[in-house]
Amino acid sequence: VTFRAPVRDIAFSLETAAGYGALAATETYADWDLETVRTVLEAAGQVADEVLAPLNRVGDAHGAAYANGTVTTAPGFSDAYRQFSEGGWHGLAAPVEHGGQGAPKAVEVAALETFQAANMAFALGPMLTLGAIEALHLVGSERQKALYLDKLVSGVWSGTMNLTEPQAGTDLAAVTTRAEPDGQGGYLLHGQKIYITWGDHDCAENIVHLVLGRLPDAPAGTKGISLFLAPKHLVNDDGSLGPRNDLRPAGIEHKLGIHGSPTCVMAYEGAKAELVGRPNEGLAHMFIMMNAARLQVGVQGVGIAERAYQQALAYARERRQGRSAWTGEANAPIFDHPDVRRMLAVSRAKIDAARGICLSCAVAADLARVGPEAERARWKLREELLVPIAKAWSTDVGVEVASVGVQVHGGMGFVEETGAAQHYRDARIAPIYEGTNGVQALDLVGRKLGMNGGQAVRDLVLDMRRTAADLAASAEPRLQSTEPPFERAIEAVEAATAWLLERRGTSQPDVLAGATAYLALVGDVAGGWTLAKQALAAEAALASPDADRTWLTGKIALFRVYADNVLAASEGRLAAVRQGADALHALGEALAA
Ligand SMILES: Cc1cc2nc3c(=O)[nH]c(=O)nc-3n(C[C@H](O)[C@H](O)[C@H](O)COP(=O)(O)OP(=O)(O)OC[C@H]3O[C@@H](n4cnc5c(N)ncnc54)[C@H](O)[C@@H]3O)c2cc1C
Repeated sequence: VTFRAPVRDIAFSLETAAGYGALAATETYADWDLETVRTVLEAAGQVADEVLAPLNRVGDAHGAAYANGTVTTAPGFSDAYRQFSEGGWHGLAAPVEHGGQGAPKAVEVAALETFQAANMAFALGPMLTLGAIEALHLVGSERQKALYLDKLVSGVWSGTMNLTEPQAGTDLAAVTTRAEPDGQGGYLLHGQKIYITWGDHDCAENIVHLVLGRLPDAPAGTKGISLFLAPKHLVNDDGSLGPRNDLRPAGIEHKLGIHGSPTCVMAYEGAKAELVGRPNEGLAHMFIMMNAARLQVGVQGVGIAERAYQQALAYARERRQGRSAWTGEANAPIFDHPDVRRMLAVSRAKIDAARGICLSCAVAADLARVGPEAERARWKLREELLVPIAKAWSTDVGVEVASVGVQVHGGMGFVEETGAAQHYRDARIAPIYEGTNGVQALDLVGRKLGMNGGQAVRDLVLDMRRTAADLAASAEPRLQSTEPPFERAIEAVEAATAWLLERRGTSQPDVLAGATAYLALVGDVAGGWTLAKQALAAEAALASPDADRTWLTGKIALFRVYADNVLAASEGRLAAVRQGADALHALGEALAA
């Protein structure tokens, strides 16, 4: 099935759900109006369709290979990497002074969706490089920026994030990698890192590893972790490459999915390294980037869902079985069975909702930096609130839609030849890495809910109510009728929030037991909010004589489907939030009996 990047949907969501206009109105991004953004997204879509998508199956079938201490990527990957780099895609949002194009992060996020959808295993590589660029830009020394940033931005070198160790997964306080002073102002790293994405490969001339480790006198726990930079090939003062550093891939993992992405065990055996940022503040530095990285993983969820949806839709229009309840046609396309149509419609609505959440989060992050001074704090709160939702809710949508995609294919979904199974396998990692979705839910009810005494959620509820009022005031009956279920869903968010705020600090197990249900509830309703805004904008756009009526009325109908299938379940989500921890605690022994 030929993949087509959904550029029109992405641009529409960016404009109407995420309110991109506020960003284009800033002085910083005056050159990045919507027309320019559309052109960039078209170009990204072309790379996704023509360069990356054709390699998706190849990456899955061949995977990356490890032999004699080196990693080779799947056939075609290194050439695609070259084209990707030459197109300037690593540097879309990077600083202009380092060779980037200085686009808003929101545009980078939007472009990345097309790459993730086309080839998630490939796009992971650039995603990690973007993280390294951001880290060095924010906390690197002037020398580090001068030496490393231009090369990362051009893609000539790539970047990695080395956090995880066998005993230190979610709990990074347990990191034990040691950094010994080398007597010349640098350090020698000793330790093992696992699951390092694109830890070694044959696509770039050098690999810049950002590594969490401990200085000899570091305090225990998270307050004793520092961030180091260790390149695969040492870098001379003039930027030229020196000898190999004492670090190597010790092997690659054999995984459920994303076979094209080399996931390495990395051995640091006295590797020369330099400190990045301040000693013992490595985790804090990492957290600066975490918001961006988590959002990018959320976008992977949107991308893989889109890919799986397109594949399922194409199959449903071809495969013929049974008599259609609508048309009476015998041997009808399965697309004409209401249950199959429901699967596709709910999938499409959830993709639009997840995209709306991710793009809203990205625009909020940009406005928190460059928006009108008086509004920055409010946008920061919005970004902070939306990050765990964008990450967890969207990646859950990724898995769900990919699973539905398999279902639409029937038996053909379970055998490998259609490719539907690959999307399902690929999608499964996103709820796990960059902080598991369970950890995102803890972040939401822990840090995010408590910010300014619940201000972030209160603000979101206010904004959602404004949109509900627009629905109620609409002259279009199909929009008007979505207001009551939307309003009831907003009330469920308010009730859940009040219940959790009351118990925060006094009954922590109850709060933690309800965390995932709370994230799901807020995600469902915030997703509905972004769909409502798209539906309202679609209704307004229908007035234009050259409007694409099918596509626009589709946006309205999708919100209706979402209201009936997702928003209507909010009461159930609320009950799960309020379940409390007692029954779970009491079950302890019984679960193992
Ligand atoms: C393909 C792949 C690529 C990866 N890429 C990278 C990379 O580039 N760099 C890197 O550093 N790491 C990477 N990782 C590691 C990834 O980030 C970790 O796997 C993830 O953080 C979870 O850690 P863990 O596997 O040790 O699971 P654990 O921490 O053992 O968690 C197991 C389960 O327990 C739950 N849990 C743990 N602690 C708590 C708690 N306090 N409260 C509630 N629930 C909890 C988790 O939610 C999870 O469901 C990658 C992993 C994979 C599989």
